[in-house]
Amino acid sequence: MATIDSHFHLGLNGFSLPKLIRYLDRECIDSCWLLNWEEVAPGPWCYRHLPVEDIYEASVKYPSRIIPFYAPDPHRVDASSVLEHWHGKGIRGCGELKATLRWDSGEVVSLLTTADKLQMPVVFHMEESEARDIPYSDSLFDRLLFHGLRTERGIYKVPQAVLRILAQHYAPLRNRKASYVFPGYMLDFAALESTLRSFPSLNLIAHGPMFWKHISADACSHTELYPSGPVASEGITWRLLRDYPNLYADTSAKSGLNALTRDTNNARRFLSEFGHKVLYGTDNVLTGQTKFINSLGLSAAARKSIMGTNAQRLIHE
Ligand SMILES: [Zn+2]
Repeated sequence: MATIDSHFHLGLNGFSLPKLIRYLDRECIDSCWLLNWEEVAPGPWCYRHLPVEDIYEASVKYPSRIIPFYAPDPHRVDASSVLEHWHGKGIRGCGELKATLRWDSGEVVSLLTTADKLQMPVVFHMEESEARDIPYSDSLFDRLLFHGLRTERGIYKVPQAVLRILAQHYAPLRNRKASYVFPGYMLDFAALESTLRSFPSLNLIAHGPMFWKHISADACSHTELYPSGPVASEGITWRLLRDYPNLYADTSAKSGLNALTRDTNNARRFLSEFGHKVLYGTDNVLTGQTKFINSLGLSAAARKSIMGTNAQRLIHE
């Protein structure tokens, strides 16, 4: 039986390539889908640039363990051609699509059209918009320190001498707060549904707090990203998974695991019904997904599908 972690990142939560391979070995996982993160003009929200080049190199080094994915930021004018380029080099799927855009925007539709043509499944992150406060100067400084200066031509590390000067000027700003509205990623359910209808042969794999929160019909009455407590009744995720053969979901991150562990009986029912559509994944958050799935007493067929064969099928292995 193949076991696949369908949602993993290199360079996130301290995962270097050797550490990633050790994790796969330790947990007896055959391979993982390695996903990038790319925003060409990230705002002040949390962002970590995870480049496709690193993913590609990892897959060349460990071809049987690493299945490379890449989702260009659809804001790029060359998003479609760059996806075709990497597909030609061996990239198998499009993910993680985590863009501050709507499903029905021209940019997203154009990228999905290309992914559909190349028969690449798309892993997407759904997160609602919200007003947030940030220590303005911290985020600016951190961005320079950790990500460097981002220009049209690439990313440049800022020399230490320049950082020292910036730090002096930045000190008075330290305690100033700024607020902004985080625009959200891949909003909203209505447009997701029309996308599922317009691209019937494109397989979309859902992930993220907004998708998983709606496992419960009372999601809108919760302002928190990860609601706890029993699931009230079936939310929109059930209907979309039932109605659209091209929609899948992964169990990854706090969002996926929380949605399942908040109500064990509900998780058993959900995974029994959607065993052929849910993919095991962690998003580098190793907090017992396998143990929890094993504890539910699912049928051997459902467990096998979730732990690997659904992922295998989606990339035509
Ligand atoms: Zn992720």
